Amino acid sequence: MLRILASSLQREGSRSLTLSGLSRACSSTHRNLCSVAEQEDPNFFEMVEAYFDRGAALVEDTLVDSMKGPSSDAEKRLKVQGILKLMKPCNHLLSMNFPLRRDDGSFEMIEAYRAQHSQHRTPCKGGIRYSLDVNADEVKALASLMTYKCAVVDVPFGGAKGGIKVDPKQYSERELEKITRRFCIELAKKGFIGPGIDVPAPDMGSGEREMSWMADTYAMTIGYQDINAHACITGKPITQGGIHGRVSATGRGIYHGIENFVNEASYMSTVGLTPGFGDKTFIVQGFGNVGLHTTRYLHRYGARCIGVMEIDGSIYNPNGMDPKELEEYKLKNGTIVGFPDATPYEGDLMVEQCDILVPCAGEKQITSKNAPHIKARIIAEGANGPTTPAADKILQERNIMVIPDMYINAGGVTVSFFEWLKNLNHVSYGRLTFKYERDSNQFLLESVQESLERKFGKHGGRIPILPSEKFADRISGASEKDIVHSGLAYTMERSARQIMKTAMKYNLGLDLRTAAYVNSIEKIYKTYSDAGLTFT
Ligand code: NAD
Repeated sequence: MLRILASSLQREGSRSLTLSGLSRACSSTHRNLCSVAEQEDPNFFEMVEAYFDRGAALVEDTLVDSMKGPSSDAEKRLKVQGILKLMKPCNHLLSMNFPLRRDDGSFEMIEAYRAQHSQHRTPCKGGIRYSLDVNADEVKALASLMTYKCAVVDVPFGGAKGGIKVDPKQYSERELEKITRRFCIELAKKGFIGPGIDVPAPDMGSGEREMSWMADTYAMTIGYQDINAHACITGKPITQGGIHGRVSATGRGIYHGIENFVNEASYMSTVGLTPGFGDKTFIVQGFGNVGLHTTRYLHRYGARCIGVMEIDGSIYNPNGMDPKELEEYKLKNGTIVGFPDATPYEGDLMVEQCDILVPCAGEKQITSKNAPHIKARIIAEGANGPTTPAADKILQERNIMVIPDMYINAGGVTVSFFEWLKNLNHVSYGRLTFKYERDSNQFLLESVQESLERKFGKHGGRIPILPSEKFADRISGASEKDIVHSGLAYTMERSARQIMKTAMKYNLGLDLRTAAYVNSIEKIYKTYSDAGLTFT
């Protein structure tokens, strides 16, 4: 596999083939790429559509060729193009305004949204963002990304996203609770939440606390007769039906995602690095949920965090920082600025020398303006949509490997899927098999001991059969956390292999984003076509 991959990466024509794919995308049904490809600040939804178009243009012929049946080629193409067209738009958008009476007695109108991009699989799934940047375009874009993301990691959901246009730091806990509960009621009234309909999760500005309010509101109102009511949302605290490992899942998934590519010698030689994490430095943008946990895991496995960017300032230490100490400092001071083990960084840390850049804040952070100056060799898109198509093109031309959002930050939705399954099963992972597994392992050791003693006798005393350190660790059976971690690692590895295989098949070189879109489109296409879709 490695050898073929290396030759695919080095093939002269790899970039020209991608570019010819782009020009074909402009001339066929997939038109969006042309209009946003050069823009410094494209419309976010059109940006995601443009990436979709690039993948769709590439895979269209293969889908036509693979279609069975007596139809003519022209008819087959019409059907393929029809299904591709059907995949792109956002199916539903709920927009709402509701009043909030603030603690000081004043009134305020709150603007909020929920977008459901696709129901090719149900329920829909996607986070709820609390940010002043929230708007209809943003939730539509994020919802469509969720559809493609779920398909890439084989999570059987359609994509959705919600947003409440507030800066959570400006509201008391009581006010946030009122906003969240009312938002949930509005979703419920319009059929935009439910274990089998649409299942939100945390995103920027929200976490376990907000998920808990949502679950409670749903279960106490419209879901009061539904035994599965708590499966209406994921990212809940453990006491409310949450799952171990969900809080850190996105960051852990990002670590695994990078690991899969960093250990491929051919990819590393293409970007001029050696395999493994040992000697790598990294810079993170955004030290919230995703940024913090990504930093923790990269640090734990040997990479060095030399810079962190936050909304109110950046810090830098070429010798590396300890994420735990930085987390504690931020919790105590409400900012990373002033962290004693680093110096303040004036200027744009995004373009500082490092091996891996991990944007974990908002969208459109890497544009045609800063992309020519980025020195990192690998960009792992922890955030959703951090790179514009114009920047993406520049990064490819500069041989920088971009591991795309729809794959690399899919750990969150993967573990949300596990939480949803746990809620539907009404039992935690491992609970039924824990004792059985521990006893079986014990019996296995005893059986080996008895066999040896039957053969060799036990004149010198009993033959000791001791488990190895690794086996001893597992002898008691897998806990929920073990199952979640191994399920996540497996998911990230399997999807990375699929992306590499597609990049090779279509001669895409370092264009992993298009490879991920192709995988996603093929899977969604199959769902529609296997359903015997007929257009009305
Ligand atoms: P968060 O609110 O916990 O953290 C975001 C952090 O980024 C905050 O600390 C904020 O101050 C900082 N930030 C905002 N704008 C910035 C800027 N311009 N420069 C530097 N820092 C800035 O949010 P999160 O949950 O960590 O989400 C971050 C990104 O990851 C979003 O794009 C989100 O959609 C994506 N994501 C989140 C999850 C999840 O499970 N939470 C899963 C997949 C993707």
